[in-house]
Amino acid sequence: MSNPHTLEELQDFKGKYPKQIWYLFFSEMWERFSFYGMRGMLTYFMITQLMMDDAVANLQYGATQAFVYAFTFIGGLFADKILGFRKSLFWGGLLMIIGSMILAADPHRFFFLGISFNIIGTGFFKPNISTMVGALYKDGDYRRDAGFSLFYSGINIGALLGGYFCISIGKGTMLGNVVPEALTWNVAFGLVAVVMTISLLTFVYTRNTMATIGLSPLRDITKPGNTIIASKKWYEYAVYAGGLISIPIIMKMVATPRYVDYFMYIVGPASLLYLFYEMTKHSAAEVKRLFAALLFIVFSVIFWAIFEQAGGSLTIFAANNLDNTLLGVIKLDPNGVNNAANSLFVIIFAPIIGIVWIAMARKKLEPNTVVKFGLGFLFLGLAFYTFYATRFFANAEGIASLDVFTLAYFIVTLGELCLSPIGLSAMTKLSPGRLQGLMMGMWFLASAYGQYVAGLFGASIASDMAAVTPAEKLIVYTEGYKDMAIYAVVAGVILIVIAPFVRKRLMGHVH
Ligand code: GLN
Repeated sequence: MSNPHTLEELQDFKGKYPKQIWYLFFSEMWERFSFYGMRGMLTYFMITQLMMDDAVANLQYGATQAFVYAFTFIGGLFADKILGFRKSLFWGGLLMIIGSMILAADPHRFFFLGISFNIIGTGFFKPNISTMVGALYKDGDYRRDAGFSLFYSGINIGALLGGYFCISIGKGTMLGNVVPEALTWNVAFGLVAVVMTISLLTFVYTRNTMATIGLSPLRDITKPGNTIIASKKWYEYAVYAGGLISIPIIMKMVATPRYVDYFMYIVGPASLLYLFYEMTKHSAAEVKRLFAALLFIVFSVIFWAIFEQAGGSLTIFAANNLDNTLLGVIKLDPNGVNNAANSLFVIIFAPIIGIVWIAMARKKLEPNTVVKFGLGFLFLGLAFYTFYATRFFANAEGIASLDVFTLAYFIVTLGELCLSPIGLSAMTKLSPGRLQGLMMGMWFLASAYGQYVAGLFGASIASDMAAVTPAEKLIVYTEGYKDMAIYAVVAGVILIVIAPFVRKRLMGHVH
């Protein structure tokens, strides 16, 4: 089949998915491999190789996570205004490759430099590839949410593989007989660089199948290709230069976690003010839809704050309070389950749920976006109630059932699938053309806040010093999960109650 020349031709695809979604799927899958591969090594590397103490390493890990998602706002903004999505992706991917190569060369010496390259690179890459997925669909196409669900499955394949391979190579438990002991971390970070190169090449070789999607808004339309008009070329160079100049600043800020607090106080309000300013340039109907998008963004902060206990308090819970047998026979490390169960469930169930949405849409039964969000929270609440309920399946020493814990992860995943891919999809449905990147950036910025609040929640649970034995810890942690279950259910009920209003008053024709 030849490549479509116009956007209309491309969006007129037959079947469930446009073929271009597969190219973005693989490019994002490899990018997430690199992202989660690296993220999985950070804390361990800081503690065992850079000899930081646990608390400092955890704070610094939190700082990198907050920054990584905060820069998506900037990456999205410059994509809208200057670079377009394709050039942004390319630039972001390149910075990520350079960052990982720096780490591969000497991770001990250049740790924060390499990480900072990756932070800026992800900011340019991550939101913009998601926006490109949305651009494959016409307004009102009922297959859009399913497309994002599929894309989300790819994200998690990458996350699972990267999260597993990189740290195992770094620790020497994998390839230990081939890689000399002194070089395991170099090889692990090197793998990140190689895989990120595969991601970028996948994109470069397939981007021409995407008609006009992602071209720069400043391109010279008298010429084929994506060259920016000569008089505006310097804007493009200024963005590149700005990205590079930010690197030493980020290096300093990540290394000093106190700055992260200041940064978080500023970037969110600043992004909101900027959005309000942009709203003054749009029609009333567009502004209403932007408010709907904002509502989803705000609720998503609460969602991620609870969900992201996975990397924090649930890790500690898994280490202290779980047995290691699944379904009576399978022996598993509870922390392995904690790290992998969610991704595995997403990989399996995301495409299925996508198909369910399509089937429901054909019968006119598909819940609208607000209700899906509400369901996301109800599942989240049920899941955290299940984490709480592990206390009823524990022995006298406070060691609880891995089965119940895994079941909770299954339910968490259902919640995530009702909210996270749907949120990506909603950003692309609700934002006018020139604000797509910005809104996607804000969607991920909400994740930065979610991570941040998750850390505070987790710390407040862990701060109960009275709990010393596993049995005492079981009570303290599960009590915390019960509170979170209540917050989630309240948020879900609010969303479902306001759904008709939001749909009618704010979202216009958007489902
Ligand atoms: N796990 C998803 C991803 O990596 C969602 C991340 C997020 O929005 N916090 O894309």
